[in-house]
Amino acid sequence: MDFLRSRQGIISHIAIGSNLDQPADRCREAMGHLADLEHSRLIRVSSLYRTEPLGIEDQDWFVNAVAEIRTTLPPRDLLSALLHIESLMGRVRAGRWGPRVIDLDLLLYDQSVIDEPGLTVPHPELHKRRFVLVPLNEIAPYAVHPVFGISIRGLLDRLAGAGGKVEFLGGTPARITENGKERDC
Ligand code: ATP
Ligand code: CA
Ligand code: CA
Repeated sequence: MDFLRSRQGIISHIAIGSNLDQPADRCREAMGHLADLEHSRLIRVSSLYRTEPLGIEDQDWFVNAVAEIRTTLPPRDLLSALLHIESLMGRVRAGRWGPRVIDLDLLLYDQSVIDEPGLTVPHPELHKRRFVLVPLNEIAPYAVHPVFGISIRGLLDRLAGAGGKVEFLGGTPARITENGKERDC
C-alpha cells in the first residue's frame, strides 16, 4: 500500500497570490510553472479572486487562487520548488505580508502535519484566511484539515463574516499557455 502511494504521489494544495505587476497574469503565470513542476502533475486550479490585503492594509488588493497537484516530491523539496518559482518570477523578499509579485504557500500536503523550522504544514494561517479558504473550497471542499479534523467547507462556515473581503474575479483558462504551448490543467 505504501509502495503504491509513494509511486502515485500524494495530493497537495498550493496558495497563489500576487498584488504587483498585473496580478491576475502573474497568478496564471505561476500556474504555468506549477504545471511544469518536476515529479508532479497539476490537477486543477480554482478561479481567481480579488482580495483585501490583511496585516499591512496600505497596499493594493491581491489576486488569489489555489492549485491542486499530485506529487512525489517530499514536502521540503516541494517548498524549495515553490520558492524557486517565486524567485524565477522576480520576487524580492521585502518582509512578510508586504506587496509581492508572487507568493506560493504550501497549504496542505496530504494529511501530513509538519512543524519544523522553515516549514509548517498545514499552513498556520489557512483556517483564518478567507482569501485562501474561498478558492480552496471551490476545488477541494471535502479536504480535511489534519489538525482540526474539519473540512475546508466547515472551516469556511466557521469564519462567518471574518477573514477579509473576497470578490470573485473570474475563471482561469481551462488551458494554460506556457512558452507558446497549450497544455491541459
Ligand atoms: P504567510 O506565511 O503568513 O502567508 P508570507 O507568505 O508573506 O507570510 P514569506 O515571506 O513568503 O511569508 O515566507 C517566509 C517563510 O515561511 C518561507 O521562507 C518559508 O520557509 C516559511 N514557511 C513555513 N511554512 C510554510 C508553508 N507552509 N508554505 C510556504 N512557506 C512556509
Ligand atoms: Ca503567504
Ligand atoms: Ca509565502
